[in-house]
Amino acid sequence: PIYLDYNATTPLAAEVLEAMMPYLTSQFGNASSRTHLFGWKALEAVDLARIEIASLIGGSEKEIVFTSGATEANNLAIKGVYESYKSKGNHFITLQTEHKAILDTFKHIESWGAKVTYLKPSSDGLITLDQIEDAIRPETIMASFMYANNETGVVLPIKKIGDLCREKDILFHTDATQAVGKIPIDVSNENIDLMSFSGHKFYGPKGIGCLYVNRKEPAVKLTPLLDGGNHERGFRSGTLNVPGIVGMAKALGLVLNDLSDENSRLLNLRNSFENKILSSIVGATLNGHVHHRLNHVSNISFGELNSEFLIPNLVKIAVSSGSACTSASLEPSHVLKAMNVSDESLYSSIRFSMGRYTTSDEIEYSTNYIIDIVNKLKSW
Ligand code: PMP
Repeated sequence: PIYLDYNATTPLAAEVLEAMMPYLTSQFGNASSRTHLFGWKALEAVDLARIEIASLIGGSEKEIVFTSGATEANNLAIKGVYESYKSKGNHFITLQTEHKAILDTFKHIESWGAKVTYLKPSSDGLITLDQIEDAIRPETIMASFMYANNETGVVLPIKKIGDLCREKDILFHTDATQAVGKIPIDVSNENIDLMSFSGHKFYGPKGIGCLYVNRKEPAVKLTPLLDGGNHERGFRSGTLNVPGIVGMAKALGLVLNDLSDENSRLLNLRNSFENKILSSIVGATLNGHVHHRLNHVSNISFGELNSEFLIPNLVKIAVSSGSACTSASLEPSHVLKAMNVSDESLYSSIRFSMGRYTTSDEIEYSTNYIIDIVNKLKSW
């Protein structure tokens, strides 16, 4: 099938595998081994990767904490801040359309005594600064807003939110899993205190991610999730995933290298796809803001056709109804639900996400194929 599910995960780039290979084979050392060359070589590779990643997001190498992925980074940011700032306050602000790795973590700390405000987005998935400002209380310690939504691609005004949080003296965390490698990000300029992301969303390996932690004065404090060998300056114990770290750095460098060309290519593909689908299928509607959106994502509802029925009929393309994490359940998307889309649209939505290896031939074929299948199913 034609792969149109790049938001779920991306294939490993050949150059990334090549960069990782030595660290999966001959250079297998533990980066914490200080007594021999194997360890030194591993540490050198990690140090270089750390500098590379930091510079690509506008931070410094002391601000990079490697984790197993964005899920862990989100858990570390939220639980870690809750534990470390209890004496200052216990209130958090977030959004109803966040990923489950955010929402479920907030649910968890609510059971510890935290108070969380879950703001409702507008029908196009956006949020206003006034909504955030109105939710801030004296005991608010952090706001967490995703950079780009995994289901709709909707991009929030992160710099404006960062500026507001800085002005109000509250920490700002962003789950940038879908934005890193898709949008140029500068954590310092955007006043981001904590930022989570995962290597496998931008052609890097799975099982490696990062939490950026602002260490400029006043440095963000975090209580670690894991106790152990005090790796990552105490923020995250556990033997470092050297090949993963090397791969993530290589992948990020590659993807940012031709970001604007790739973004315009994807926008052209997406426009031709969407224009044809929306004009050839009666009742097809777009979910999420038309412009404030990642260039490669299209979330479309197909009227009365249930996506649980439609997707198995679209055997020649690989797509999902919402996020991969929840697509195994029959629950409709909490993201679209929060955006108040109609019941019909809620149950008939499909997320199409393109990427580096998507060709215009594939998009032309998929577009005609979808129109054909959908119109056939509708006429039955
Ligand atoms: N946040 C967002 C917005 C995501 O899209 C994902 C991946 N679906 C995650 C967090 C979790 O990433 P991982 O599974 O790599 O930990």
